Amino acid sequence: MSRRSLVVGNWKMHGSRPANAALLDGILQARPFTCDVAVCVPFPYLSETAVTLAGSDLRWGAQDCSVHEQGAYTGEVSAGMLAEFGCRYVIVGHSERRALHAESDQQVADKAKAALAKGVTPIVCVGETLAQREAGQTEAVVKRQLSAVIHTLTHCAGEMVVAYEPVWAIGTGLSATPEQAQAVHALLRAQLRAATPHADGMKILYGGSVKPDNASVLFSMPDIDGGLIGGAALKAADFVSICRAARL
Ligand code: PEP
Repeated sequence: MSRRSLVVGNWKMHGSRPANAALLDGILQARPFTCDVAVCVPFPYLSETAVTLAGSDLRWGAQDCSVHEQGAYTGEVSAGMLAEFGCRYVIVGHSERRALHAESDQQVADKAKAALAKGVTPIVCVGETLAQREAGQTEAVVKRQLSAVIHTLTHCAGEMVVAYEPVWAIGTGLSATPEQAQAVHALLRAQLRAATPHADGMKILYGGSVKPDNASVLFSMPDIDGGLIGGAALKAADFVSICRAARL
């Protein structure tokens, strides 16, 4: 089945108003793309990003959301608020949040559910640490992480985007080989097939040190439907060249 590729920039906690303007302008100038393209920006920049990208085919989103709709949760941002700013996507369960904020599989699943309830597509990140890979636990870890989301979303599971991000490859310059990544993507696809009739149309992105020079070989693998890009999403030329490497 052919799936339209998606390339998403995860800006993490980077940026400034002038730097963002230059970066977005560089991406806008490079259109058209043959894949879907989105940027997930820090919360304070959502409003300006929405204004800059409005009317273009570029999409935008955030990097986290609350499990709650509203209330006394200082510092939290709800999915409904993201929807108000036109967010198409929200990243949930990024390994930095799992590690630095102790987010559990169930919290990640609840965030994905909160996002879908407001019409925002969750990009659910799964991935093993180096120690887990070396202990032969990759399959068990990613399946456990995805399973929590599948069971929480039930009949809506087909609406999420999944991102396989091996923790050891994030920000390290050590990308998974295309074969290593494809092997995990294939087992995630199989798990999705057992859960939803929409699995073959779902996007499974790869993330972890994707750069202009390794993007096309990664994106040529049958179950890799695009990328979640960190460091290389901060330079327009690199991000654009990764977007150009995506298959149709
Ligand atoms: C990420 O943070 O999601 C990521 C993949 O980062 P990088 O591309 O820098 O490895």
